[in-house]
Amino acid sequence: MTTFVVDAMLGRVALWLRLTGNDTLYAPDMDDDELLQVAASDRRVLLTSDGELYERATRRGLDALLLRGPVDEVVAEVFDRFGIEPKVDPSRARCSKCNGELVEVSGNEKEVVRGLVFEQTFEHYDTFWLCHDCNAVYFQGAYWKNITGYMERIRSLIARRRLVGADGTHTD
Ligand SMILES: [Zn+2]
Repeated sequence: MTTFVVDAMLGRVALWLRLTGNDTLYAPDMDDDELLQVAASDRRVLLTSDGELYERATRRGLDALLLRGPVDEVVAEVFDRFGIEPKVDPSRARCSKCNGELVEVSGNEKEVVRGLVFEQTFEHYDTFWLCHDCNAVYFQGAYWKNITGYMERIRSLIARRRLVGADGTHTD
């Protein structure tokens, strides 16, 4: 499975890669040398909006993709290029904060998240996803609609990209 390292400018891309279950290193304080080093040592694809960094990566034979333009288009481009389904399945997602793997807890097991979420939230939901690395807790709350709505938008942008012919003209 493809893994990624993402430069500081592409935080939204990193977020959506993690939520769709892709191992994605994103640390905005890493400098260019560190990004190149981790791309090489971990064999991660470097996603960057910096032309100079992109050139350095390709000169070293690293997999890299130069991404520019509106963020939604960029997310769609990455998903399209790497065959990523625009769908967030919490049981496969990575922690959006730290890239950790999530563990589902429900029923009696959910006691482990008591105190990590508001009491009303704890009572209201039966299933949570806990990040073992940073203790972040996820549940399908009100924001879930925004997540699925955004994934639908990305799906339609991918479909539109595919309608654009090789010569750049629309065929629809
Ligand atoms: Zn985490």
